[in-house]
Amino acid sequence: MAQGAPAFTPKSDELPPIIDVHFHAGIESFPGLPPMCPNASQFLASDPDDGPEAPIGWSDEDCSPRLYPSKPGEYLSDMIAEMERLNVKAVVFGKPDDVKKWVEAAPNRVIPGTSFDIGPNVDKAQQLKMLEMAFTQDGFKVMGEIGLQYAGMSPSDMSVDDYFALAEKLDIPVAIHMGTGGSGRANIGTPTYRASMGDPLKLEDLLARHPKLRVQVMHAGYPMIDNMLAMLGANSHVYVDIAGLIWSYPLEEVNRYIERLVDAGFEDRVMFGTDQMMWPKLMSYSISIIQNADYLTPQQKRDILYNNAARFLRIDKEKK
Ligand SMILES: [Zn+2]
Repeated sequence: MAQGAPAFTPKSDELPPIIDVHFHAGIESFPGLPPMCPNASQFLASDPDDGPEAPIGWSDEDCSPRLYPSKPGEYLSDMIAEMERLNVKAVVFGKPDDVKKWVEAAPNRVIPGTSFDIGPNVDKAQQLKMLEMAFTQDGFKVMGEIGLQYAGMSPSDMSVDDYFALAEKLDIPVAIHMGTGGSGRANIGTPTYRASMGDPLKLEDLLARHPKLRVQVMHAGYPMIDNMLAMLGANSHVYVDIAGLIWSYPLEEVNRYIERLVDAGFEDRVMFGTDQMMWPKLMSYSISIIQNADYLTPQQKRDILYNNAARFLRIDKEKK
């Protein structure tokens, strides 16, 4: 044992608690997906003349360790074991019936979240009823992930205002995807995605209409840091999560983005998240990026890993 190293390894229930505010219940069915290398260093150019282009443009790099997806049918049990080991509670997003399976399997580890579908064939009245039931009777706590940007829509679009009005009325925070997601080939893989709709300033009209709405900007509006800071400075009900971005972009750039949020004075509104979809070891990998951030004080690390989310989700006000 090296001098100064801890003399013991604490048991998992003694580890300081962590909240992952951005976790997906049901995206385990991508058969044959290769193991993932986080924090790829480049988005590659491509030429439509050179044959079929890949739908994502991250550079294909090797790494150690690669993150392997769970085996089919084992994602839930793998992840709950990781959450127990690392003392993590997670906001798990998905269809209500999928999320309920997680709550049943680990009621003390799972904070349930659900959202609405977008599109011309959606029955809005039926979805509003489903959401109201989820939040008032079934114990759901967050409305998300709201993926308007993938449909090329602004969060202030009036066609979805009823959902936000419901969230404000029921005092349920909303979690909106903003920023990341082009994957370098939006024109090939996600043609309705619009980078411009991830601009955090697109929240302004929504927040003016719903002044009590609590908003989690998922992926922290990456990479639009200046507009993100403007939004945080203008509205104290807005928090950010660093999910997805924390492992999707070059590590130096990720750290610079988080550091900028903290240096600008918003350390009490940055929340840890993974955007977990299928790789059990992504949880500890992502936590280690915060734990190893030399620009954060120990208190700032605890705030990002737990305290800010506990305040945003009002977990600290719950009866124990
Ligand atoms: Zn997202």
